[in-house]
Amino acid sequence: MKDNFIEIKGLSKHFGDEQILHNINLSIKNGEFITLLGPSGCGKTTLLKILSGFEEPNLGDVYLNGQTITNIPPEDRQVNMVFQNYALFPHMNVFENVAFGLRCQKISKSKIEDKVNRVLSIVKLDKLKWRKPNQLSGGQQQRVAIARAVVNEPLVLLLDEPLSALDYHLRKNMQMELKQLQRKLGITFVFVTHDQEEALSMSDRIAVMHEGCIEQLGTPREIYEEPCSLQVAQFIGQANIFDSKVLEDGERISFEIENKTFTVTNKKQLTAGQNIHIVVRPEDIAVWSLQEMQNTEKTEALPGVVEQVVYKGSTVDLVVRLASGKKIFATEFFNEDDAKLEYDINEKVWVNWIPDWEVILVQI
Ligand code: ATP
Repeated sequence: MKDNFIEIKGLSKHFGDEQILHNINLSIKNGEFITLLGPSGCGKTTLLKILSGFEEPNLGDVYLNGQTITNIPPEDRQVNMVFQNYALFPHMNVFENVAFGLRCQKISKSKIEDKVNRVLSIVKLDKLKWRKPNQLSGGQQQRVAIARAVVNEPLVLLLDEPLSALDYHLRKNMQMELKQLQRKLGITFVFVTHDQEEALSMSDRIAVMHEGCIEQLGTPREIYEEPCSLQVAQFIGQANIFDSKVLEDGERISFEIENKTFTVTNKKQLTAGQNIHIVVRPEDIAVWSLQEMQNTEKTEALPGVVEQVVYKGSTVDLVVRLASGKKIFATEFFNEDDAKLEYDINEKVWVNWIPDWEVILVQI
C-alpha cells in the first residue's frame, strides 16, 4: 500500500459559471479517519462525489493507491459511499438490503450469506436481519447503510453527514460506534460534517474547508489550538476575538486590549505596527468576582458585568459585557479550586486568561 493512499492533486470543479472547488490538494493515509469540515455550501459533498466517481472534476486528478481513478466509473472503484438519507430499499429486509450489491455480481448464494452475516454481526444487526427499514430506529437504519457499503470490502468508505438525522444521544453513541467500526475494518474513512464537535472527537485529521478551498489541514488539536486563520478559529468552537496592533516587537510583543497592555512571547515573529487578531477560547477565560479580585492583584484583568448565565451541569457558560460593550464568552468548570460558580446577572466581575494561551493571527 502506498503511504499516500488517496491523493487529490490540483482538483477544481465548477457548475456553470460558479467555481465550487479551487485547486484542492490533499493526501490521505491508508486507514486514516479524515473529516472534511466546513459550513454549508463550501464544497464538501462535491469533493466526496468526485472521490466516489459520481461527479467529474474539471481539472486535476484523484489517485487511489498510486493509480489514477479520475475516469473510472463509481462501480469500478473500490470506494463506497454512505449517503445522508441512507437510501435503503423500503421493500427489502435488512439482509436483502445488505446483500443487494453482491447479488448484482455473480457471487454464489452461500458466499453472499457468509459475507452479509459477517458484516451484520460487525454492525450488531444480526438479530434484526429480517426486519424492514420502517421497523428500525434511525441508528439501526444508519448501521444498515454502513453494512451495505462495507459488504463489498471497499478500500475507502465515504460518509456524507451520516449522523445528521439522529437525535443527540444516538448521534453521540453512533460517533463512538463508527470510530470503533473503522478501527475494526481498518479501512480509510472520509467523513463529511459541518458539526465541529463531531469532527474534533472522531477524526485523525480534519480538512477545514472554506469557499471551495482547504483552509487548514491538521489533527483536531492543531486545528483547535493553532487555527491558521480567523475563518478556522471562528468555525471551530467559540472564540473571543480582539482586534489590536503590535506595539513593540522582539522576543516578546506587546499590544493593547481595552486600554490595557499585554505582553506575550513573539511566537510568530511579528513586527511593530502589524494589525492582529487575538483569539481566546471561552474555556481559557477566567472570571473573577469582586472578592477574588480584592484577594490577589490581577493587573491584566478586564472589568465587566455578567450579562448571561447558562448552567450546564459540569460547566457554567457566561456572557460578560466589558466596559467597551464587547461581549466575552467564558466557560467555567466545576473544580475544587474554584467553588464559586454562581453568578448574578449584572454582577461586576473581571476576566483574564493566561498570557501565551491566546492565538495571535495577523489581520488580512
Ligand atoms: P452542505 O453542508 O450544505 O451539504 P456542502 O459543503 O456539501 O454543503 P456542496 O453540496 O458541495 O456543499 O455544494 C457546493 C456548492 O455547489 C453549493 O453552492 C451548491 O449549490 C453547488 N452545487 C452542488 N451541486 C450542484 C449541481 N449539480 N449543479 C449546480 N450547483 C451545484
